[in-house]
Amino acid sequence: MNITVTKTGAPKPKPADDILGFGQYFTDHMFLMNHDPEKGWHDPRVVPHGPLPLDPAAMCLHYGQELFEGLKAYRGVDGKLRLFRYRDNIRRFNRSCARLDVPLIDEALFRDALLTLLRTETDWTPRSADASLYIRPYLIATDPFLGVRSSKSYLFILLLSPVGAYYKGGITPTSIYVETEDVRAVRGGLGSVKAAANYAATLRAQTRAGAGGFAQVMWLDALERTYVEEIGTSNAFFVIDGTVLTPALNDSVLPGITRDSCLCLLREWGVPAEERPVSIDEVYSAYADGKLEECFATGTAAVVSPVGQLCYAGQSITIAGGGVGPIAGKLYDSLTGIQWGRIPDTRGWTEVYA
Ligand SMILES: *Cc1c(COP(=O)(O)O)cnc(C)c1O
Repeated sequence: MNITVTKTGAPKPKPADDILGFGQYFTDHMFLMNHDPEKGWHDPRVVPHGPLPLDPAAMCLHYGQELFEGLKAYRGVDGKLRLFRYRDNIRRFNRSCARLDVPLIDEALFRDALLTLLRTETDWTPRSADASLYIRPYLIATDPFLGVRSSKSYLFILLLSPVGAYYKGGITPTSIYVETEDVRAVRGGLGSVKAAANYAATLRAQTRAGAGGFAQVMWLDALERTYVEEIGTSNAFFVIDGTVLTPALNDSVLPGITRDSCLCLLREWGVPAEERPVSIDEVYSAYADGKLEECFATGTAAVVSPVGQLCYAGQSITIAGGGVGPIAGKLYDSLTGIQWGRIPDTRGWTEVYA
């Protein structure tokens, strides 16, 4: 399919890298593509970034038929622009589509859209250390209709946002509150896909935790409030007595690409790593026995985020002396090294696109 490119006549000044933060600035252009039952996906186009024409009755605004992805483009130390495992993001996007009863997008077309937009905006990829270009693909239901059913028309959008270094003064461990009241996702629900609706369920607990001085919440399973599922919008890892543990994937855990990359590296390094249910009691008894060595979260934004403090049922514990454990540190250095081209990619994880 031919993608048309309409360039803006008024390019924006680019913000300095040190004020970027996360998700606050957007590049000059975006990608749009429509779907309707007659034409399927059609009219793929790069256009100037701007407001969407959207009927106030559009179904996404009422019933949450909306899904997204999140990935990054990196300006390597060799000056080349790279993507990391983006085909996995495309596949996960389509799994989200299937779960939300939305027509899938052909992988080759998605890739073409992504690379066309990225190549239009090469100048927008930050140059300073650890800054990157965040990519937000998303899809919304656009039928103007208030009945509850799947929409017939959709809009697919790609936005690009230059983002600053996640850690300004080196990796900083966080304090995490183990949430025992609200739950993020239920078995059979939307937890294993990137549906916008999942995040709405998490906001109240996140605000409460923030007010208590915590960076994020740790989510427990919805049924028994016993098994760890995720940390904020990241996957959870523990190191107990030399073994790395991460909750097994089920339909309320999001299969993170960073999680999978970490498991892959750990196995190559010969570090024992298990995917299985991990109860919060197991974590606290390991702590009591002096065997809880590390806890960290993994995701595209931070890559690896060590947990320095965990608070569950009024009991606060300090992990890895409140610092960065050796496994978290090595995973962080290895993954960011591959992403920024400091370490050769021997696994076919990166693709140079400009
Ligand atoms: C996106 C996301 C993750 C991490 O996935 P990555 O592919 O590693 O970025 C983990 N948990 C939730 C709930 C997420 O939305």
